Amino acid sequence: MECISVFDMLKIGVGPSSSHTLGPWRAAERWIKELKANNTFNKVEGIHIDLYGSLSLTGKGHATDYAVMLGLCGCDPEYVATDTIPIIISNIKSTNTLSLNNEKVIDFNPETAIVFNRKFLPFHSNGMTFTAIINGKKKKSTFYSIGGGFVVKEERKNSKRNFEIKCSFPYPIEKGTELLQFCKDLNLPISEVVYENEKSIREEPKIDIELQRIWDTMLECMYIGCHTEGNLPGGLNVRRRAYDMHQKLKGETPYTNPVEWIYAIRNTEVKFRQILKWVSCFALAVNEVNASLGRVVTAPTNGSAGVIPAVLMYYLVIENHDGNFEDIKKFLLVAGEIGSIFKKGATISAAMGGCQAEIGVSSAMAAGALTELLGGTPEQVLIAAEIAMEHHLGLTCDPIGGLVQIPCIERNAMGAIKAINAAELALDTDPENVKVPLDKVVNTMWETAKDMNTKYKETSEGGLAIGVNLTDC
Ligand code: SF4
Repeated sequence: MECISVFDMLKIGVGPSSSHTLGPWRAAERWIKELKANNTFNKVEGIHIDLYGSLSLTGKGHATDYAVMLGLCGCDPEYVATDTIPIIISNIKSTNTLSLNNEKVIDFNPETAIVFNRKFLPFHSNGMTFTAIINGKKKKSTFYSIGGGFVVKEERKNSKRNFEIKCSFPYPIEKGTELLQFCKDLNLPISEVVYENEKSIREEPKIDIELQRIWDTMLECMYIGCHTEGNLPGGLNVRRRAYDMHQKLKGETPYTNPVEWIYAIRNTEVKFRQILKWVSCFALAVNEVNASLGRVVTAPTNGSAGVIPAVLMYYLVIENHDGNFEDIKKFLLVAGEIGSIFKKGATISAAMGGCQAEIGVSSAMAAGALTELLGGTPEQVLIAAEIAMEHHLGLTCDPIGGLVQIPCIERNAMGAIKAINAAELALDTDPENVKVPLDKVVNTMWETAKDMNTKYKETSEGGLAIGVNLTDC
């Protein structure tokens, strides 16, 4: 059985896409490691990269070419200063050279060295081949970005079960029913079962430090998004809306940093109808940062990175003003586990399953996590996740211009609101009366993904992507 850690589901990275930016970035890093392991790194005379399928069709809008170059340069998406990215890219373009792993300068003209092939590789629609010229001969290596920043190397027959990390959790979970059984046997809430599993692979203090770092990144992302004006890059001239919304919502309490901001919002009188606006504002903020190549937490993807922070922030500033790190920790642990159940049983890749795999899964993760914080039983947590996904089934991926902006940014607001509603419905649901268990909806999502026309799987060849011209925007 695959063991997927919460830290595999919630990764710190750079926008705008986990499958088209973070995955190719990580693939480039892995290829460099491969060259080093084969003792061929120092013999490389030239390189080129072929991007296939969805990576090619929406790669320009998703900055796949930038991500590959940054990975080849040895930049780490978790730590690179995002304001240096334009400088690094511009330097490569102006000199037509690239410093491989920041060690070895080679000739590299991005216009010719990165090829956008419309062809799809058979295994997965997000394929890419790195070619090194060594002693005049081509040495190729192919990777696949399978969603959420996960990258696999080898072709596997069952493409939804292609995760490479193997481990042995004390409580291995593939399905919702297994998770509930462990909760029952151990008499523990979901967050504590997940914590026990995490403890088997990391020291306890390290788990808390990393969860805190994830939350800090989410909070900072919301803060930056709410305090940045202007238009998003990419050519659609999409105006950042979180700034304007936040200006209208915020109160008088002064603050100078993200943590003080939480207390300032808690001190602000929030009228009933403003709750939806606050939640939407948090979600829009994250995805505006994501769309401008900023730092976000992939949760479970970059396109859907706003849902989980928005719902957690809702809990902290609306539901429970005494909410603290213990609540944040529980929320992230539950969210990560629910995401992993979708990854194991279906997909978190829009190129495989459309937007139900991104916004649908993030909404399910947030709904379940919020339900535990609101006092729901483990059964109700899974009911909330099921409700959230049930009402995203069949959601297509059709980003206009191949950019992660329209409909993506607003979809995060919608996913967050649905998650909150799903939690409330679940809290009022008797588990005995449930007609559709979580495992059923996971399976249905996967079947729907397989039936979905390729046009609606992150190719920008259908739906809004062709119904709206760039000049209309
Ligand atoms: S439409 Fe949904 S799945 Fe597609 S890029 Fe946008 S957020 Fe991601």
